[in-house]
Order: sequence, then structure tokens, then C-alpha cells
Amino acid sequence: MERKQYQLGDVVQMKKPHPCGTNEMEIIRMGMDIRIKCVGCKHSVLVPRAKFESKLKKVLRSNAGADSEETGTAES
Ligand SMILES: [Zn+2]
Repeated sequence: MERKQYQLGDVVQMKKPHPCGTNEMEIIRMGMDIRIKCVGCKHSVLVPRAKFESKLKKVLRSNAGADSEETGTAES
């Protein structure tokens, strides 16, 4: 099983695109619920963490990974 890692500021792709046609959401608040903002139309929605994780497809851009990736794919 693959564990998804995401953090504040990350741009993620959901399994279903937003009605506006954009499938990129930015995480703008993390807590018990997660607030994500559509990159396309700037609409933001608040979803429970469990629901967010079930709908999350992948992390497109990591906020922290911009400079250096801490978990590289190198596996000797
Ligand atoms: Zn949208």
C-alpha cells in the first residue's frame, strides 16, 4: 500500500477534477479538516481528512520539495 504524503502548500491532483475543469488543488489549511483551493477558479472547499485522502490521486508539487527532495528514489 502506498502512503500519500502531503503538506500545507502542496498542489495535489484529485481523482475527480473540479467542475471548472481544473484538476489541481492547493492545500491551504490542514487540521482535522483540510481546506483545498482550486488552482483554476480559486474556489476553496473544506473536506474531512479521511475523505481528502480517499479522493487524493497524487501530489503534483510539494511545497517543501521545491529545493531538495528528502526522500529520493535512490535505493542503492
Ligand atoms: Zn475549480
